[in-house]
Amino acid sequence: MFKKLFKNKIIRTYLGYGFLFFIIITIISLFVQTDKINNFLTAMENRTFDLRQSLLVSSSEKKANKDIVLVTIDDASYEYLLDKYGEWPVPRDVYANLINYIEKQKPTAIVFDLMFIKSMKSKTNADAALVNAIKQNNNVYTSMNFDNQSFEVRKPIELDKKFSAKVKNDSTIDFSRDLTFTNCRAILQKILDSTSNVGAINVSRSDDGILRKVPPFMIYQGNFYPHLSFLVGLRYLKNTENLNVKDFYIDKNNNVNFDNRSIPVDKDGGAILNWYGPAGRTFQEIPLYKIVKAIDGTGTLNFNFKNKIIYVGTTAVSLYDIKSVPVDKLYPGVEVHATYVNNLIDNNFIKKVGFSTDMAISIILSLFIGLIVLTTASTVVALGTTVLTAIGYIVSAYYLMKFFNLWVAIVLPLTFVLFIFVSAYILKYILKSRDFEHQYKLATTDGLTDLYNHRYFQEQMIMQTENCKRYNSNFSLILIDIDFFKSFNDTFGHQSGDAVLRQVAQKLKKNVCSTDIVCRYGGEEMGIILPNTDKTEAIVTAQKICQTIAEKPFKLANDKESTVTISLGVAAYPQNGKTPREIIAHADECLYCAKENGRNQVGI
Ligand code: GH3
Ligand code: MG
Ligand code: MG
Repeated sequence: MFKKLFKNKIIRTYLGYGFLFFIIITIISLFVQTDKINNFLTAMENRTFDLRQSLLVSSSEKKANKDIVLVTIDDASYEYLLDKYGEWPVPRDVYANLINYIEKQKPTAIVFDLMFIKSMKSKTNADAALVNAIKQNNNVYTSMNFDNQSFEVRKPIELDKKFSAKVKNDSTIDFSRDLTFTNCRAILQKILDSTSNVGAINVSRSDDGILRKVPPFMIYQGNFYPHLSFLVGLRYLKNTENLNVKDFYIDKNNNVNFDNRSIPVDKDGGAILNWYGPAGRTFQEIPLYKIVKAIDGTGTLNFNFKNKIIYVGTTAVSLYDIKSVPVDKLYPGVEVHATYVNNLIDNNFIKKVGFSTDMAISIILSLFIGLIVLTTASTVVALGTTVLTAIGYIVSAYYLMKFFNLWVAIVLPLTFVLFIFVSAYILKYILKSRDFEHQYKLATTDGLTDLYNHRYFQEQMIMQTENCKRYNSNFSLILIDIDFFKSFNDTFGHQSGDAVLRQVAQKLKKNVCSTDIVCRYGGEEMGIILPNTDKTEAIVTAQKICQTIAEKPFKLANDKESTVTISLGVAAYPQNGKTPREIIAHADECLYCAKENGRNQVGI
């Protein structure tokens, strides 16, 4: 059955195409996986992610969670507080008062995206007030930051086990690469002693400096430590959905699992953030100075903090906590952390599909485009289909992100499509030119003898006479007729006659120059056009041919052998005629003389 299938021309053609595509796709696959190209494609892919995110946040349906509120040290608050206290940082009782003020309204959490590093020696009472406020309220969170600072500059602190997380890790994430730290920018020891709500605020940036991911866990001194916002999100989930947030399992597909939740994490250990809007237009914000005024009694604030997650952080440009993110190039860190919490509680982190899925999509798309290009006669249709397919795919990728939080690659499939489109066109062009050559051969040669046909002979005769006229040169014609071929056929059969015709043709070709043109004139008559050859030379050639043919017997169809002779007539331009008709007539006359004189000779 397979043999039969293989004999089918269409199936064979498609198998051929399939094999070619296989080779082309293998070449592209190897190409896109070389380091430099891969980095380039990744950088471009990241930009398509940014574009998708920007479009999504501007299609107003995407809204941040109302339970997240920012208390911002914005430019106005910075100026107000600097004015009021005459120094920066301000004494820490400002934050203590803030905590006490908000706590009265029973918020879910108050989170400081600020690091209270070391004691402010002249303001120890203010420090004590903050420590006290933190101690009194078990929903206040503060930050620390891991780094790899030299031990000479800073001695790494021993972090209490209570800050670490119980993580079972079966994933392929390599925590040793970017997520293991040797030092820690810790905070007031008294704060560390009075709470277990301290999380790391490390973030990771892509090569282009844009922040797209934040890790849930980092390793310090051999233990896993959670990110601040991860910690805060867990508290919210524990309160609202009663989830168990004690044990974490990172499975082999790089999902962080706890209770019934599963958070996708990228291969470098970062959760890919899903953004809600540009800076300042994502979350509800209250400038710190308004609360300070409300506490002082110099202003009023009409806001209910009940059950809210309150992030306190800087948005003032001069306070240098500015990141570039996919949806904005100046984005405050505190909004990054709020976005992270929002993703966690709304369970909408972005999941990047695996490389093999992206490859599969690329191959399917490129096979489709390859087939379209090869099977469609119209370039406009093929180009149109390719462009529409590409646009259709980009739109699908956008909606996959919108509705399923899935990141499918755009750059890789489009690179494949582009390559295949070009390759398929090159292939098509080669096939076409091969087809053209084939058609040309069919139109100019004779099927039995593989010599040029009568039409070509006539064309060449015209061309030769014209050339000779113009350049004042000469050419000769030898006409050949096989002797007694009728009776040969009658004796040995037409099959043997055909075999002899073919062999005579081959011998003729062998015995002339490559520039001479050997044609089948008709029936068992053949003609040789010899450019730049005078009559004497042509007669010598004719005699040589006559001898060669008669010399050896020819193989016949039924394993028999027989000798064959030919008669020849020679004519030359210009002495025997000035037109093809005259020259052919003269050669014919000579041929007739050869027949009359007993055949197997060149007629004069
Ligand atoms: P003469 O020596 O006078 O040329 O005798 P002849 O028998 O060759 O006479 P003529 O040239 O008139 O006959 C041509 C014969 O060639 C007629 C035909 O049977 C045979 N013939 C022509 N074309 C083909 C062909 O393609 N194949 C075969 N087998 N025979 C052919
Ligand atoms: Mg004849
Ligand atoms: Mg003949």
